[in-house]
Amino acid sequence: MDHFRRIGQLRRRLTRAGLSGLLVTHLPDVRYLSGFTGSSAALAVTRRAARLFTDGRYATQAAEEVSAARVEIVARSAAVAAVEWLAAQPGVEFAGFDPAWTTVAELARWKSALPSGMRRSFLSSLSAPMVEPLRMVKDEDELALIAQAALVGCRLFDHILGFVRPGIPEIEVAAELEHQARQMGAEGMSFDTIVASGARSALPHGHATMARLPRRGFLTLDFGVILKGYCSDMTRTVYFGTPKTNERSAYQAVLEAQEAGVAAVGPGESCGQVDEACRGVLRREGLAEAFSHSTGHGVGLEIHESPRIGAGQTTRLLAGMVVTIEPGVYLAGRFGIRIEDMVAVTRTGGQVLTPAPKALIEL
Ligand code: ZN
Ligand code: ZN
Repeated sequence: MDHFRRIGQLRRRLTRAGLSGLLVTHLPDVRYLSGFTGSSAALAVTRRAARLFTDGRYATQAAEEVSAARVEIVARSAAVAAVEWLAAQPGVEFAGFDPAWTTVAELARWKSALPSGMRRSFLSSLSAPMVEPLRMVKDEDELALIAQAALVGCRLFDHILGFVRPGIPEIEVAAELEHQARQMGAEGMSFDTIVASGARSALPHGHATMARLPRRGFLTLDFGVILKGYCSDMTRTVYFGTPKTNERSAYQAVLEAQEAGVAAVGPGESCGQVDEACRGVLRREGLAEAFSHSTGHGVGLEIHESPRIGAGQTTRLLAGMVVTIEPGVYLAGRFGIRIEDMVAVTRTGGQVLTPAPKALIEL
């Protein structure tokens, strides 16, 4: 990963925004810019210098991981140390911070660390995020890691098809997925594994419970792994037994909607248009009300990143973005169905990173 280039890009954005300094405290942003993977750090960037502040637990790790910024080990809050450093830099009149990742209490602490004359105006709340737009467009190294993580997800799905059977608790399915993920080299799961069976499949976020897989009914599996910091995310819904006509037609509608969404992905398309491609299909099938969430989200160092693929979203897709397309229908007390792929935006369209089968699997 070329962290010098990323910090260079950030500096150009700072200059355009008229800022001479930036405080970065959101850890995925810190990691993206510096390579530091520890759980406590702050990064300060000016037009001339970049400095990473962390504590003694991470001295060795920071020295190994960080080359694009000077590392300073501090015994107090890393963010406070970063604010003090920024305030002491010649030519830095204001330093930006991202209000989305700053609590009121933190801001008060940072201000009280400043000389009294600087407290009122030195720290400047960003009106738009600075690092997030950089992170939205993945470089080749990132795309390769995300594709690898997505393929681990597909292998997990393949494995779990041979494991699931009526009568075993959902929680055992989650445990098996997570155990296998580790065996396949994952650092962890990118979120709490969703295993929702029978009527529970109507819960869009049905975490695995002690409920036993039914003899007849849907099973929704939504899971992802973290590989070298990058997340994967996929959903497949399978059926135990033989589906009823209405269940089969609902599945076909979701599949058609999902494929329409994938087909709509391409550079220059707005996120709202992609959402509408999915939603339009479900509306025609009379299932608009049952599709109760947005179509998808960006994926990268975090499981949910920008852009959001939802109704009315005007952000335009750019080559290098990675988004999920995950329409679903949820009929409370009856059943639910969701199908989710990760799709990389290419120069000409979209490339599905999760090529696991989507035709209804009957077990
Ligand atoms: Zn998911
Ligand atoms: Zn998702």
